[in-house]
Amino acid sequence: MGTILITGACGQLGSELTEKLRSIYGTEEVIASDIQEPPERIAEGPFKYIDVMDKDALEKAVEENDVSQIYHLAALLSAKAEQNIELGWKLNMDGLLNVLNLAKEKSLDKVFWPSSIAVFGPDAPSKRTGQNVALNPTTVYGISKMAGEQWCSYFHENFGVDVRSLRYPGLIGYKSLPGGGTTDYAVDIHYKALKNEPFSCFLDKDNALPMMYMEDAVDATIQLMQADENDIKIRTSYNLSAISFTPREIAEAITKHIPGFEISYDPDYRKKIADSWPDSIDDSAAREQWGWEHAYDLDKMVEDMLANIPNENPDLLKASEA
Ligand code: NAD
Repeated sequence: MGTILITGACGQLGSELTEKLRSIYGTEEVIASDIQEPPERIAEGPFKYIDVMDKDALEKAVEENDVSQIYHLAALLSAKAEQNIELGWKLNMDGLLNVLNLAKEKSLDKVFWPSSIAVFGPDAPSKRTGQNVALNPTTVYGISKMAGEQWCSYFHENFGVDVRSLRYPGLIGYKSLPGGGTTDYAVDIHYKALKNEPFSCFLDKDNALPMMYMEDAVDATIQLMQADENDIKIRTSYNLSAISFTPREIAEAITKHIPGFEISYDPDYRKKIADSWPDSIDDSAAREQWGWEHAYDLDKMVEDMLANIPNENPDLLKASEA
């Protein structure tokens, strides 16, 4: 096996996935890349400045480092993409097509690319949304993920590219701050609670959304990438699910550890995005075909977040005050 290249490796997911992949395959075998300065723990291993919209730069990195797998994570997330429509579309589409074309031309072994629950629009069933319902997304981000899924399937069908994908729910972790999505509140709320400050939520108290603890998301990703090629029956993107909760429910879970924690609601444009997405997801295909199982429920996740933020990440706790 050659080396692994990760794009967008300094982001919320990328920084955790990079560390986990390095612990499995060896630090030197996993090349992190991004257009921002790497945090210390990413800079401990190989790092390259690569803009995913620059195909030549991607190609050079693949050739010079004998890359055989790409985890392509660089993207503009839902809330930011609504505020910068052109960049959202261009980055999310051009970046993916550059990676898929490279995988085809250089016969790469495998590509991972994340989709999102944002592919579902308001007319999809809101509870236990199935794998094959009509999508009809109403956000730029959702449209780019829906188109991306079709491109993945196209490159697999027509050029044999082994590209694998998951429709992540909102991701929650303590090692890095989120990058501008609609589910970011579920990370931020822990920081406020730990500082004994009230939290103002940009969603409504009953806005239920599918969510997942970062440990589970990283495990699902690696499990999918390690699965036997014949077990991967879905080449658009797999529904993936763990927990579903409302802002009120996560606040209640936090109150069990920090009595007196207060939350108020001041919904903004992100409520409209959340309203267009499902409450919960049916991921039975992932569970049946390659054995996906999540480990964290709401209480276990909140307990882990509150325990780990101050110990593992005092700097982030400080940074979140800015
Ligand atoms: P993030 O915003 O935290 O990180 C994205 C990274 O991409 C950043 O480090 C950024 O610097 C980098 N980047 C931006 N433009 C780039 C460019 N032109 N070239 C190279 N790098 C560039 O996002 P994340 O939360 O880590 O998400 C990673 C992937 O997972 C994305 O594809 C996202 O759509 C998907 N996803 C995330 C969530 C979530 O809740 N975090 C949910 C569903 C899907």
